[in-house]
Formats: sequence, structure tokens, C-alpha cells
Amino acid sequence: MIDIKKIVRKNILNLSPYSSARDEFSGAEGVFLDANENPKGSYNRYPDPHQTTLKEVVAKVKAVSPENVFLGNGSDEAIDLIFRTFANPGKDTVIVCPPTYGMYEVSANINDVEIINIPLLPDFQLDKQAILKTIVQDVNIKLIFICSPNNPTGNLIEGIEEIIEKFNGIVIVDEAYIDFSPESTKVPLINKYPNVIVLQTLSKAWGLAGIRVGFAFAQTEIIALLNKIKAPYNISTLNQQQALSKLSNLEEFETQRKEILAERERLETELLALPMVQKIYPSSANFLLVEVTDANRMYNELVNKKVIVRNRHTVIKNCIRITVGTKQENNILLTELKDISQ
Ligand code: PMP
Repeated sequence: MIDIKKIVRKNILNLSPYSSARDEFSGAEGVFLDANENPKGSYNRYPDPHQTTLKEVVAKVKAVSPENVFLGNGSDEAIDLIFRTFANPGKDTVIVCPPTYGMYEVSANINDVEIINIPLLPDFQLDKQAILKTIVQDVNIKLIFICSPNNPTGNLIEGIEEIIEKFNGIVIVDEAYIDFSPESTKVPLINKYPNVIVLQTLSKAWGLAGIRVGFAFAQTEIIALLNKIKAPYNISTLNQQQALSKLSNLEEFETQRKEILAERERLETELLALPMVQKIYPSSANFLLVEVTDANRMYNELVNKKVIVRNRHTVIKNCIRITVGTKQENNILLTELKDISQ
């Protein structure tokens, strides 16, 4: 069994975290003269640094225990904190499997951590042989990032558990889009392995990208480390309230999710009928990776028509990533594309 303490940065292991006034006493009762707050106003008090109520609700919705939940200012915050917890700048390395989400590389660069790129195979699955060979050769590899469903390819990644099992570092499974294919979540693996962190977010299916709330699920040892180094009040009172209200309305969530999935299917069918569309990759997320005859041309023409998609030509030849919008937005896209193709 892997000993997490052995792979944590020494300075983080030895760190005494900042203890805020609200760590000691919180709640509605009492005279609070301990945090240099203004005594008047609606948001004059600091938020709960432990986000206790929100964690309980997240835990219930995601069928885990509250002590297995870390809440971040978006999952992007969790990604950065994971680097800062485990990867020694200028010494350790991490594995990233492109084409994938760009923040792993940016966070690695910010933290001065070298990246080992092990590209996905042509079917956008992991090059398992190459990963397994690399992790036995290099003892300084601390993290492996796996994004499933992957951005920008949209597919679920197979064979994740074998990597977790054979790796002596931390595997991060980024499930930002998993609510569009919930049956494939790897969250239950946190009960089996001490070296896995599953990331999820309220930014996609939950429709709350503006409030910046992301989740990290892991065993308590890792959650305690992330809590130790986070900014004390990383989720504002307003954002905790918005998150709570959204997570309490599961019916609305389910309706919206189904609408997006139905629109994804319609968009796919209609796009395939256009002459410039060569191929659409199967998607388990809320976007489509579409291969067209000339991605740069199509992208620029759409920009001229004020329809903005993501040109991924530099990472996957002639591919455009299209987010599934509302029915009206998707209709505008389709109309403009028909105009271009004539
Ligand atoms: N992971 C992936 C794969 C993403 O695509 C994104 C956002 N585009 C994020 C994480 C970041 O999400 P958040 O808004 O929770 O920071």
C-alpha cells in the first residue's frame, strides 16, 4: 500500500496552516469581536472556511462522505493545489496525455514542474504500455492527469484503475463532464485506493461556471492536505449559497441535463448532413469534436458571423470543438454553417 506521506512535499507535510478566527468559533449565536469584521451589513461576516453545510449536500448528491470532499474555487483551484501539495518545483515531473485540458500544463509551468507528455493513441485512449513503462523508469513522477470524458475529444477513458493500481504517485481523474455520463464515474475508486483524486465541478452540467465551485474527492489524508494549504475563505458566502440552492433542485438539473443531451444528438445529426463535415467523434460530454474540410476557414467565417466555436486545428487536424447550446443557439450555428457551405 502506498504511503501518501512519502510523496507529499516536505514543506507541506511540516506546514502549520493559518488558523482563522472562524476556525475557532462560528455560528449565529454570540458576540463576534474576533475577526476584525464590520459589525453591520449583509455579507459583513467571513464565510465558513470549512463549507460544512455545502460539503454535506455535495456528499449526499455524490454518494460519498463529507470528509472525502474538498471544495475549490473551481476545479482549477484543486488542480493547482494538487501540484503544490505533491510536486517539488524544479525536481518532480508529471504525466499528461494530450490532446487534453490545457490547465494541467499551465499549472505545471506555474509550479515549475516538468511535464512528460504521453499522447493518447489515435482512438484517443491511453497509451497504457508507454505510461506503465515510463512510471517504472522515473521515480520523480508524482502525478498522472487523466481527463474522462476528455476535453477536447469528448470520449471516456478506459483502463484508469490499472494505472492507479500500478502507480506509486497520485492519479487525478478529471471528471468535469461526468454528469453527462454519470454511470462511468470513478468516484467509488476513492474507497479502494489512497492515491486517486477525482475532480468534478458545478461549471458544466450544473450550469454554474460563474460561481467557481469545483470538487475534489479522495481519501481523508489527501483531503486534509488540500484543506491545509487552501486560502482560508476560498469559497465566498454568496457562492456557497448559490451552490446549495442549485444542488437542492435535482429535478431542474435533470431536466436541463436531458435537454442538453437531446440537443447534442440533434446537433450531431444535422451537422453530419453538411458537406464540410467529415466526421464527428462520439461524445460523452456537452460538446462535439467535429472534423471539417478546413477548420481555420470555417472558424474565421463563423467568427465573422458572430458565432464563436473553439478551433482545435493546432491540436487535432481540422477539428473544431462545438459546445451544445440552447436550441435557438444551435439553430443559429446550423443556419450560418449552411450559409458558409454554399
Ligand atoms: N477540467 C476540465 C476538463 C475542463 O474542461 C475545465 C473547464 N473548461 C475544468 C476542469 C475547470 O473547471 P472549473 O470551472 O471547475 O474550474
